[in-house]
Amino acid sequence: MDLREKIRVIEDFPKKGISFKDITTLLKDGDDFRYVIDKIVEIVKEKEVDIVVGPEARGFVLGAPAAYSLGVGFVPVRKPGKLPADTLKFEYSLEYGNDALEIHKDAIKPGQRVLIVDDLLATGGTISAVAKLVEQLGGVVASMVFVVELTGLNGREKLEGYDVESLVQYE
Ligand code: 5GP
Repeated sequence: MDLREKIRVIEDFPKKGISFKDITTLLKDGDDFRYVIDKIVEIVKEKEVDIVVGPEARGFVLGAPAAYSLGVGFVPVRKPGKLPADTLKFEYSLEYGNDALEIHKDAIKPGQRVLIVDDLLATGGTISAVAKLVEQLGGVVASMVFVVELTGLNGREKLEGYDVESLVQYE
């Protein structure tokens, strides 16, 4: 399947100069959605994943069904102030601005092998923050899987040392 045909590209969103890859066109098709989740699961099936972590909001949409299919749990990483119990926070910069992410302190057990899932890798800022949170809790990042990778933004270099996988790449 050519995922490029399923992903809608919107120019100048959310601001001028950004070519936004809109995966809602892929998610709304049952066969395409299943294909993407099955691919993610296939990529990581030998990686002994104990738990899946996904950042809000599109990381939930992809990470939760991947976790279900793998038969493991799912942990949400959220914007500050959304998670109710004790949290760890990490601040980072992304393609359009600065932000911070939080995880529940009791979400990961030391030594657990973690699969991180998100829709898109751009600069790698978001996913580095997620990896830092996982590692601060003693988790081991087994793999990072994205549907889309924007290769021109060199996110992969920022993630050196990690296993980084993507289903479709754009320059
Ligand atoms: P990064 O932190 O790697 O620079 O940016 C990746 C994060 O921003 C991801 O969580 C992703 O959801 C969001 N993002 C940035 N650009 C796009 C885009 O073109 N399409 C989509 N769907 N998400 C994007």
